[in-house]
Amino acid sequence: MSDFLLLTPGPTGVPQRILKALSLPMIHHRTKEYQAILERVNANLGKVFLTRHPVMTFASSGTGAMEASITNLFSQGDLVLSFSAGKWGERYRDIARAHGLQVKSYEKKYAEAFEAQEIAQALEDHPNAKGVLTTLCETSTAVAHPIQEIAKVTRLGRAILLVDAISGLGCDIFKMDEWGVDVTVCGSQKGLMLPPGLSFVALNERAQALVPKSVLPKYYFNFAQTLKAMAKNDTPFTPAISLVRGLEEALFMILEEGLENVWNRHARIAHFVRSKAAQMNLQIFAQSPSNAVTAIGMPGGIVSKDVIKHMRDAHQVVMADGQGELQGKIVRFAHMGCCTMKDAERGMHAFQDALAKAGYEIPTGVL
Ligand SMILES: *Cc1c(COP(=O)(O)O)cnc(C)c1O
Repeated sequence: MSDFLLLTPGPTGVPQRILKALSLPMIHHRTKEYQAILERVNANLGKVFLTRHPVMTFASSGTGAMEASITNLFSQGDLVLSFSAGKWGERYRDIARAHGLQVKSYEKKYAEAFEAQEIAQALEDHPNAKGVLTTLCETSTAVAHPIQEIAKVTRLGRAILLVDAISGLGCDIFKMDEWGVDVTVCGSQKGLMLPPGLSFVALNERAQALVPKSVLPKYYFNFAQTLKAMAKNDTPFTPAISLVRGLEEALFMILEEGLENVWNRHARIAHFVRSKAAQMNLQIFAQSPSNAVTAIGMPGGIVSKDVIKHMRDAHQVVMADGQGELQGKIVRFAHMGCCTMKDAERGMHAFQDALAKAGYEIPTGVL
């Protein structure tokens, strides 16, 4: 069972080095030893998010951090503009609605990406908007949205830009401060190679200025309290100590490889997967594909479920089906986090075998 290769868009495989750090004996968090870990982790998070602003860590899955970014930065009735072209963009929109924000929802067909011009137009139409909700990698469709271009628009106005970078960070190029992103939301189980259970929110000055103004109810996910504790190198509540030790190792690994090299590795692997799929005459679903995951369209008469089952049973390779309306129609071949070219080749071999077993004729010379 230990031989399963997880090529799913979260959770990803966890490298041995990190597993070892996760299994270290427990320590207490109000100690010099833990404080030293926390200090390194907080500094190194900044080097991976590419921000000099605080990156807060919470004990939750990614959705917890998405919700916290709404409840700590806005109030009931505030207008936010939501840009969604998939399940995760919709989740951000729905969280904002659940907390009584006024949400103007812009939606695109799954597979499509927003253009900065559309955000500019929406902000012109709604000059009183306080926030713009976007997604770096829309994991449900494998689309990468042009955050750098979008930030060029939002940094000129008063609405802050919130980016769900949960699956994109560490895979797709992302430069928080240089681009002018105000809020970055992330999770542990995707590009950061960790088990699920940690989430992150980074805030620049513009976003931090909104914290005291927000009157939505909050207690556990409290940015003001978290930032105050961080300044003293502390945490308001018991941190997820083992996961933070795993995070320390994960950040070491990313920085040892070099963030640029990590991005380049993802780009090379994504290119490999996309070009093999194209050679097999299969459709790459995303119009503007992310380097974190590739969504491959299933040929007529073949449903994803059967392909996925064969890969799992015969090759111990695990990939994901489409979500919602895409269920059965695409296979999501993820290559995020610690994925190597060798892993991607093993995944592609399993994928080709499964398609052949399902009756698809693979052009000669591709195998
Ligand atoms: C995985 C993911 C999430 C959050 O999922 P959790 O299950 O709460 O960790 C949010 N947005 C995107 C784009 C994701 O890929």
